[in-house]
Amino acid sequence: MLPLFALITIQTSFDGGSLGRIEKVSEVHFRLGAKGDVDQDKRNRQANWYYFRVDGAKLGTKLTLDMVDLPGEYNYKPNRGAIQKETPPVISYDNERWKHLETFTYDADEPKLRLEVTPAAARFWIAHVAPYTNAHLDRLRQRARRSRAFREEKIGKSVQGRDLFVWTIEPSGPARKTIWLMFRQHSWESGSSYAGEGAVLELLENESLRRGVRWKIFPFCDPDGVARGNVRFNVHGYDLNRNWDVEDPVKMPEIAAQRNAIRKWLEQGNKIDLFYSLHNTETGEYLEGPPGKEHATLAERFFAALISKTSFHPSRRLTFSTASTTEGMRGRMNVAQGLYNDWKLPAFLMEQRISFNEKLKRLPLPEDRIRFGRELVAAIRKAVE
Ligand SMILES: [Zn+2]
Repeated sequence: MLPLFALITIQTSFDGGSLGRIEKVSEVHFRLGAKGDVDQDKRNRQANWYYFRVDGAKLGTKLTLDMVDLPGEYNYKPNRGAIQKETPPVISYDNERWKHLETFTYDADEPKLRLEVTPAAARFWIAHVAPYTNAHLDRLRQRARRSRAFREEKIGKSVQGRDLFVWTIEPSGPARKTIWLMFRQHSWESGSSYAGEGAVLELLENESLRRGVRWKIFPFCDPDGVARGNVRFNVHGYDLNRNWDVEDPVKMPEIAAQRNAIRKWLEQGNKIDLFYSLHNTETGEYLEGPPGKEHATLAERFFAALISKTSFHPSRRLTFSTASTTEGMRGRMNVAQGLYNDWKLPAFLMEQRISFNEKLKRLPLPEDRIRFGRELVAAIRKAVE
């Protein structure tokens, strides 16, 4: 027999789980703080990752969950927080298949996002966007290793000792070009990883994309952050997509390992014809080219190919990066700025929104990201031809 008053519990003690304070207002109403993440100077708080499990919910009884503690700071400018009415959470009853929660309201004054869940089962999971954890990556690795075109190299270890990889997908025939992809520099941006998975699968399955082209991939740049359910910064508080003008293998071994892999590749007399890193934002979607105008033609070709071949639906025109995200301050170059500064590489940064995409006509789900990754590699291939 079920107890008369089964208590609801809220858990985050699993890979990627995250919440700050948990306050019980009543048996069916909780206030849940976004944990948030700050940098090495306790600045630039970003609070847009939460992932938790509810147990003991009563079927058909509405549960109110208020997401609070949202305000933050971005590039030293304060904001009301990245969690807003455009970014409803996803819900899952098996921790595998996700859909967006449709019953929510946003209160801009507090600010808070109020979720109203009428559960279809006693146990369910809620997250900011569909999680992609170290376990997901490991499944992809096992699958990729079955292909003879796939090669994996360990390039270092994260602060907490997790392996960092570069994957190579070998060309069929002699390689004329090398394209280098990078995914998941920021731990909350799981959409980047789903797209990375789509890209890898497409390259392994579609031989024509490998003809004459070698693909190198950094699949997972902050494994510690993903495991810890973190938002943006590594264990020591460093933003792995700033600090590309700093060499510090102790505080930021992730960047050091990646830069050394690129340096080694170039010092062996190889080139990189296009470098691409994929990120997520709330509502903005854009492609940013390298600072140098010598890559403008390639940038225009790439931008056009993304629009014609993928679900990329930019919120602004093609832009070119400045030399740094914060002029005159050390530790503020992103990967594209850093690679241009060091080697004049044609390095691109793309942001993909998690809010409604007019081209998809819906809020993006993992299957949309995977499809985008498949389309992405075809678009890049076309841009460098
Ligand atoms: Zn990012």
